[in-house]
Amino acid sequence: MSLTVAIDGPAAAGKGTIARAVAARYGFAHLDTGLLYRAVGLRTLRGEAAVAAAKSLTRADLADEASLRAPDVAQAASQAAALPEVRAALVDYQRAFARRLGGAVLDGRDIGTVICPDAEVKLFVTATDAVRAERRFRELSGKGHAVTLQDVALDLARRDARDAARVTAPMAPAADALQLDTSAMSIDEAIAAAALQVDRALARLPKRAAAEGR
Ligand code: C5P
Repeated sequence: MSLTVAIDGPAAAGKGTIARAVAARYGFAHLDTGLLYRAVGLRTLRGEAAVAAAKSLTRADLADEASLRAPDVAQAASQAAALPEVRAALVDYQRAFARRLGGAVLDGRDIGTVICPDAEVKLFVTATDAVRAERRFRELSGKGHAVTLQDVALDLARRDARDAARVTAPMAPAADALQLDTSAMSIDEAIAAAALQVDRALARLPKRAAAEGR
């Protein structure tokens, strides 16, 4: 069985929380594709060229999650992510991950549009700017980062604007994505809404396999 769940949306909308919960619930593998761009961003902050970093990324680059989650790394990631060659270097890995047997959940900005246009489930998760800033502020201060709510809001706005305006694979909902506004939802409600889509896709799978002669 191979089933891909594509979850896109702006920063701090709840994609990661939903993706992790869906993966755990169905036993699917999960890839936070933002971490790949953050790993490239971290290496650029250490002086490397972005394209060279993207082409030589290894599992070890993803190990230090605490460093990868820092706000300056997020900005560097967003800058590197605007470069077509950086994105191209990361496509094969993401597509192979998406089609692994047993199901996969990928969250990012271009999963439903560019990486997995044939994903069986596509969600575009959003929340108001104020709610996203508040959530990310709590998350970062909880991890000991010295940030203000205003800085966090500015950081998200800059990143979202850059991610949505870039020419290659801009952040955008796929035409067939379900838009999920989590502003007024609890985490459990958001997960339940996503799970409903996965249940429906799983119910369709046997029919699809039969139609394809499998
Ligand atoms: O998801 P996260 O906020 O960790 O992503 C960091 C940055 O990586 C984003 O602001 C975006 O520029 C980039 N990104 C991307 N495409 C993805 C995932 C992340 O361009 N699929």
